[in-house]
Amino acid sequence: MNAWRTDTPFDAPGATRDWEHAAIAILAQEAARSADTHLLKLDLPGFPGIAFYFKDEAAHPTGSLKHRLARSLYLYALCNGRLRAGQRVVDASSGSTAISEAWFARLLGLSFVAVMPAGTAPQKIREVQALGATCDLVDDPADVTVRAAEHAVSGACHLDQFGLAERATDWRGNNNIAESILSQLSAESAPVPTWIVCGAGTGGTSATIGRYLRYRRLATRLCVADPAGCAFAQGWRSGSRDVCASVSTRIEGIGRARVEPGFLFEVADTVVEVPDAASVAAVWCLESLLGRRYGGSSGTNFAACLQLAAAMRARGESGSIVSLLCDRGERYAETLFDQNWLAVQALDLRPWLATLNRCIASGCWQAPVGVNP
Ligand SMILES: *Cc1c(COP(=O)(O)O)cnc(C)c1O
Repeated sequence: MNAWRTDTPFDAPGATRDWEHAAIAILAQEAARSADTHLLKLDLPGFPGIAFYFKDEAAHPTGSLKHRLARSLYLYALCNGRLRAGQRVVDASSGSTAISEAWFARLLGLSFVAVMPAGTAPQKIREVQALGATCDLVDDPADVTVRAAEHAVSGACHLDQFGLAERATDWRGNNNIAESILSQLSAESAPVPTWIVCGAGTGGTSATIGRYLRYRRLATRLCVADPAGCAFAQGWRSGSRDVCASVSTRIEGIGRARVEPGFLFEVADTVVEVPDAASVAAVWCLESLLGRRYGGSSGTNFAACLQLAAAMRARGESGSIVSLLCDRGERYAETLFDQNWLAVQALDLRPWLATLNRCIASGCWQAPVGVNP
């Protein structure tokens, strides 16, 4: 009598991992085809002895630093056994992540739903749709995570950038953004920067950089640049994860309304709050310095870099400061680079352009009258 059955738990018919293995191979091939992003050096006349470096994350195939995150999130979902052949994929995003996740979905032959605030830049919505993905637009930006979770209940794989960004990236290396920056600096005269400056959207980038600096035992300090009044800055100062933003920002990708799960306050050594008008003015300055347009969060970073550099200069310090150019400016042709939009938003750039240009020329930071700081 044959006691063996083919459906014993040890036999596990149907449990081949052929699709998962092929998907992971596709992600590895994509990573191998992709070059590292440039570290652009800028010498500003007001800061002799202080070198500025900008990691050009707009150069990724999908135009932003979210290319790294999307690759990590798909790999993390696959390696956790959460993503299967033919499964729909969903995530909440203000746009950049959705573009990168839609691009990877197409590469893997999966369908993707992006839950986005209805006010997202039209160019980003068009880019997501052009990649074959669906946009589910919600009126209140605070509702995106809940809506994405609803899609997951009906069977979609939730990539969950806000929940998982902080852990999906290998913080000890594997060519994460911090390892890449430090190796690109290795032949420079100040290879260990005084500051690395980044924003916080999911908090993934700041978590990776902050952890890596400690792991490598470097003296470099991490500054998070946040739109004035937003949740990372408020939470970091008060030490509370319950705070909410006191204002909403026009700077996409950062300046969250609430303290996201991936915001690790302990890794940030300081936080610089930047008013939206200063961020946008700084993006305009970057265009004249670098000859290219970048998104608003790159301006937030640049405005914070100048303030940190002015403080270094006042103390007689030399060294280097590194920051990120987070996404392509083309996405904001109808917003940040449009005079009518700026007028409707009542964003007056002139006083901030004067502050930034004076700082670039003289090395001194002097905020417009009546503005803190
Ligand atoms: C996501 C994003 C950031 C912030 O990066 P996180 O790693 O999510 O904190 C900054 N700028 C842009 C344009 C982004 O899309």
